[in-house]
Amino acid sequence: MEPIRIGILGYGNLGRGVELACAANEDMQLMAVFTRRNPESLTLLTPGAAVVAAAELEQWTDKVDVLVLAGGSATDLPQQTPEAVRLFNVVDSFDTHANIPQHFAAVDAAAKETGHIGVISVGWDPGMFSVARLYANAILSGGADYTFWGRGVSQGHSDAIRRIPGVADARQYTVPVPAALEAVRAGKNPQLTTREKHTRECYVVAEEDADTDAIREAIVTMPNYFADYDTTVTFISQEELNRDHAGIPHGGSVIRTGTTGQNGENTHVIEYSLKLDSNPEFTGSVLVAVARAAKRLADAGETGCRTIFDIAPALLAPQTPDYLRAHML
Ligand code: NDP
Repeated sequence: MEPIRIGILGYGNLGRGVELACAANEDMQLMAVFTRRNPESLTLLTPGAAVVAAAELEQWTDKVDVLVLAGGSATDLPQQTPEAVRLFNVVDSFDTHANIPQHFAAVDAAAKETGHIGVISVGWDPGMFSVARLYANAILSGGADYTFWGRGVSQGHSDAIRRIPGVADARQYTVPVPAALEAVRAGKNPQLTTREKHTRECYVVAEEDADTDAIREAIVTMPNYFADYDTTVTFISQEELNRDHAGIPHGGSVIRTGTTGQNGENTHVIEYSLKLDSNPEFTGSVLVAVARAAKRLADAGETGCRTIFDIAPALLAPQTPDYLRAHML
């Protein structure tokens, strides 16, 4: 079997995660990483793969089967995915939930025009958590949904703290409230406010002579990000931040509880949970499994945009359908 030839556009945390996932899958071959920066400034982990300027993407259409987009959701992917799907079959991890329908429409139009497949919003949330929500809802039609995130680093919240005057660096952890998780897991269907579901832990490096009381106040009162949560702020040195908070862990649980029976006398709890040491490496692994599915859909002549909901599970696996039926059913 010829390996599936992968390209990666964007070489940040997620780009490196995708690269590692390619190396871990025998049916994948990383051909090239494309970057908007000077290609000479990047050193890949994979021997033999090329580093190429993003402006030269067009020259690689016959050397790459699936291009995995690893840029940021805020400004990179809304532009890059509809452009790239004109040239390649693509997979992205677009995670701005509210804008997914709009992103889908843009990618769908471009993919259909050019005869490619584009799978968007792949990862863990959206991604594996979305699948868990869909299965649980289809099965327990009368019930309640809960998603808990963490304990994990929120890059968006960490960035928001870094923008406060006097802050040199910061890491923010989102942490589920144990009592809330317990009540949900016990099938009690509690009504939970934002504050009752998660707390926020902030580790902040202040600049020399900065007013730490003012920084603390600016964080805990920040609308949308922290004001609705119980937030703790701990000031530490840059050395401590580098030593104790260098990783990018994340995870969480999707839970649906519901009842069946004539009088709703039987309670059921469905839970899917993830504990990830490295958010980008896990997300990269999901993207690569979906790249395999994208190649199979493209080989079958399908075109247009898809999400994880449209991907049949067997398409993700490297094994044959016979093997899956014999060993995994
Ligand atoms: P990064 O900020 O590390 O990288 C984003 C892009 O920034 C890179 O592709 C890179 O593009 C560019 N970049 C510019 N300068 C640098 C630099 N000095 N070092 C590294 N990259 C640089 O973001 P992440 O990789 O952590 O995350 C990417 C996106 O993945 C997030 O925006 C998030 O939306 C999404 N995501 C989705 C998940 C899901 O579950 N669906 C889970 C986790 C993340 P270039 O090489 O072209 O310069």
